[in-house]
Amino acid sequence: MKHYFLGLAGNYTRKRRLKHIFSIGRKRDCLELEEFLEKKYGGEAVLCKNGRSALALALKSYFNRGDGILVNGFTCYAVYEAIKSAGLVPIFVDIEKSDLNFSVNTLKKALTNSVGAGTSRPATPKGIIVQNTLGNPVDINEIEKFAKKYGLLIVEDLAHCAGVKYSDGREAGTIGVATALSFGKDKSIDTISGGVAILRHPCKNKIEAPTKLPKLSDTLRARFYPLFGAMTRGLTRVRLGGIFMRVLLKLRFVEKSADNKLDLERRIAKFQAKLGLEQLKNLKKSGESPIREFYLINNRDEALKKLKKNGYYLDGFWYEKPVSPERYYKKVHFPEKDCPTSVEVAEKIVNLPTFYSKEELAPARKIIKEYLDDGE
Ligand SMILES: *Cc1c(COP(=O)(O)O)cnc(C)c1O
Repeated sequence: MKHYFLGLAGNYTRKRRLKHIFSIGRKRDCLELEEFLEKKYGGEAVLCKNGRSALALALKSYFNRGDGILVNGFTCYAVYEAIKSAGLVPIFVDIEKSDLNFSVNTLKKALTNSVGAGTSRPATPKGIIVQNTLGNPVDINEIEKFAKKYGLLIVEDLAHCAGVKYSDGREAGTIGVATALSFGKDKSIDTISGGVAILRHPCKNKIEAPTKLPKLSDTLRARFYPLFGAMTRGLTRVRLGGIFMRVLLKLRFVEKSADNKLDLERRIAKFQAKLGLEQLKNLKKSGESPIREFYLINNRDEALKKLKKNGYYLDGFWYEKPVSPERYYKKVHFPEKDCPTSVEVAEKIVNLPTFYSKEELAPARKIIKEYLDDGE
């Protein structure tokens, strides 16, 4: 029986893995990446260590300490971290079940109770981060109207949606004052880590671009993750994958994605700039498919067990809490009362990867269908 994985670099074929381990990047590759992105999105491209650093740099460039930022109430801790490190106040907005994004409806509600998470003082919203969750685009025309009406600057987070088009044909990343790309694990551009900020409008604050190269230990971890992922996937067949991964984490050969530090002094490694550029150039060919399919189901634990028995390891879904991972959730002080749909979705969501064929995933889809939430 073949096994299928949502995470553990399951999106890396053997060929891609070898290329990742052995590719050599040069300064020229970094310059080419910058040039390509500047042309594609229009603006100044700043190479960063990861997506959260890129987002923090973008936010710092356009907002002032204490400003409120409207943010999707179903997101990654990386986004929260970026907002906080820029000295801003996250205002979480409830989502719609249909696309896992906020809507003008939920945004309006958030404005009436816009108390920032973890504070008791209301923060004045000055910005809005558009996330296009899992590659599902927001209704950008409505969001733009809303932003204009309330004087909000739009920042686009492309971690899930590089290459995605909005319904009016414009591409994600070409709308806001700034755009942040992540090259992290399982993102739409995946070189295990890395990020780029694109400053599309004149900045309010001048933030120095990172100049240092990444630490050797971080670069080595990024180099070998696809290999360690493949070994773990292999060992899962003999039920040793879990133990092996725990050892790798203990030895710090592998780092959990959420623990990748935000750092505004360091940039992406040159080899990752090179591989990221290649993937960006291929985006057009691969079309506009979402990075993950999602289903809302009941009895998720039971469903996941059944899936596992059939060779589908899908427990790395996005997201298991409104702000994930679970181990950081408490820190966020998430306003569950204001975001009931986010809470519900986090309890019910499962994802299917999009890098396997329809046929390979058919049995998994069948199992998931048994558990589908009727209210969906
Ligand atoms: C993963 C992610 C990021 C950035 O993550 P990094 O690990 O810092 O590259 C940003 N936004 C969203 C929605 C994400 O899921």
